[in-house]
Amino acid sequence: MKISREFIEKIPKTDLHLHLDGSLRLSTLIELAREQKVTLPAYNEAGLRRLVFKSHYADLPEYLQGFAYTTAVLQTPEALERVGYELALDNQAEGVRYIEVRFAPQLHQNARMTSIDVMMALNRGLARAKDEFNARPEVQGGDEPPFEYGIIACAMRMFGKGASAYFDSLLDVHAHSERKWVFSLASMELVRAAVEARDKFGLPIVGFDLAGAEAGYPASDHAQAYALAHKNFLKKTVHAGEAYGPESIFQAITDLHADRLGHAVYLFDANMIKSPEIKDKKAYVNSLVQFIADRRITIEVCLTSNLQTIPTIRDLSRHSFRHMRKAKLSATFCTDNRTVSRTTVSDEILKAVQAFHITPHELKNFVIYGFKRSFFHGTYIKKREYVHQIIEYYEKIEKEFS
Ligand SMILES: [Zn+2]
Repeated sequence: MKISREFIEKIPKTDLHLHLDGSLRLSTLIELAREQKVTLPAYNEAGLRRLVFKSHYADLPEYLQGFAYTTAVLQTPEALERVGYELALDNQAEGVRYIEVRFAPQLHQNARMTSIDVMMALNRGLARAKDEFNARPEVQGGDEPPFEYGIIACAMRMFGKGASAYFDSLLDVHAHSERKWVFSLASMELVRAAVEARDKFGLPIVGFDLAGAEAGYPASDHAQAYALAHKNFLKKTVHAGEAYGPESIFQAITDLHADRLGHAVYLFDANMIKSPEIKDKKAYVNSLVQFIADRRITIEVCLTSNLQTIPTIRDLSRHSFRHMRKAKLSATFCTDNRTVSRTTVSDEILKAVQAFHITPHELKNFVIYGFKRSFFHGTYIKKREYVHQIIEYYEKIEKEFS
């Protein structure tokens, strides 16, 4: 069987690494900016694509520029709800059945919304899209699996003035404290809010993440917050090895108890190891890879995004996914940012299939890993039932296409 785009769009898929603020519809961004009098560099989609949301970027800082505009329009509950709803619809339209939407509530927190209000607003949008989808007769009749989702709360590795009203005030009141202490404080506060949102308000907050600039801002500053998340049974993922080497990945899985890794592009790059204590760098990488493989720590692979933020990769066939695949690591394809990266889950899978000549059997594994290693909101029994339903449906589509 040849893997076609049509097949990819039909099979049930996941997106486990999906940033809300990187995935707004451009038409919505323009509308919200007009309504809220937020200045954009252009007020039409073509202009925004040319100036901000490009297909190629010079580096990570340029890639990140678009987020200033998207977070600026996501400062009201109505905007958050709308964007959550549309994001779920866009995923459903290309056959994605399970998403974990991640965002940093503290970037949206202001005098009118607490971090819990922010999470509730997003959840209203996602829940509405889920309920509408699951009311369809094919889902109700059990012929098709339902749409499910979870929310991941992201702490920021670092932040400066102007990032958000909340971060500004935090930096103001702790003006005499060491910055890393303030970063740590914000992360701790977010864990508490996430746990409260889940336990008191029943929100499907399923995980905790650490995002933002890696180099110079070690994960260890946030170890306390991750320990608290761990204690409260929040699942954990960490952006690691996107801009820094294997040691950052080691830190994520040891100090932060990461269940999954965001990107891990540089997992195999022994030459990026900086610690003088590590004498045999190749052996270190090998042990780290074996550990990750054995523990089934899943890597959230975002091919297009990596190519955009690390232009030196040049060609997807040179992306470290080729080593991940060879080492039989648990990996799953994700978009990172649908708008900023100009991609979809189907695009990511198609690119992977073409660049790495993935077989139908392998593809099935990568897609199913997404469901199996998701931070599913619900009991383990429910999760297993859901995964079984997904596999059955996947196999039905396979038969249709063979
Ligand atoms: Zn990311």
